[in-house]
Amino acid sequence: MPIDPDTLAARLRAATNREVALEVLKTSSTIVQRLPGDRGSVRVRVHEIFFDAPEPVLDALVAWARRPTRRSNAALDDYAIRRADALRACARTTPARARGRHVDLRRIFDSLNVEHFDGRLRCVVTFGRVAPRRRLRSLQYGAYDPLHDRIRIHPVLDLDWIAPEFVELIVFHEMLHAAIPARRDDATCRHHPPEFRARERRFPRYAAARAWEKRNLRRLLREAGAAPAPPRVATESIAPPRQLSLRFPG
Ligand SMILES: [Zn+2]
Repeated sequence: MPIDPDTLAARLRAATNREVALEVLKTSSTIVQRLPGDRGSVRVRVHEIFFDAPEPVLDALVAWARRPTRRSNAALDDYAIRRADALRACARTTPARARGRHVDLRRIFDSLNVEHFDGRLRCVVTFGRVAPRRRLRSLQYGAYDPLHDRIRIHPVLDLDWIAPEFVELIVFHEMLHAAIPARRDDATCRHHPPEFRARERRFPRYAAARAWEKRNLRRLLREAGAAPAPPRVATESIAPPRQLSLRFPG
């Protein structure tokens, strides 16, 4: 039986012991979000797919609002995967921009697809938005969103001094995410299972791309952090399950 917003707000209030302003998300690709409100209150934003969720999922949502744990995160992720069609139907995705100033991601994707995946992958591939201006200590070069089968590449990789084999490796890495789903053992999610790493290392220009990255990491971090910043709000949120990508360090 669907839960109404007042009932859910009351449960959240009881669980968090705070005043709760509940907001319903309809077109967002975010499923849950918790923001600080006025005078110690908390704003909890919840996607509408939760209003007809089964009781165990609602329990996980309430537990998450009190304190996010690996267990509650996993329960919410699992539910989002089960409701992927509903999420996909109402999410607004920004239009893809595969052709940058110097790099054509679609061309790279298409040739890697033929060369390594028998042409089977059907992902959307796009440059992400320009990153906020701040000193970066790590950089996420790319991400794969399984919900929308969409690969997003950091716009810093569109600069003219980036080695082609490096962009190719990043696109290849995200394509492997599309081809090899993350594996869940108990509460831990393995985004890069052993067969993933093995296939990645077989990329023909792997060593050259990694060596180039090592030589150019400082410059990459500097230039990725140099774009004008949109305003930032302190938030704590879980997007729909999204596989992590290459990061530095590790
Ligand atoms: Zn990855």
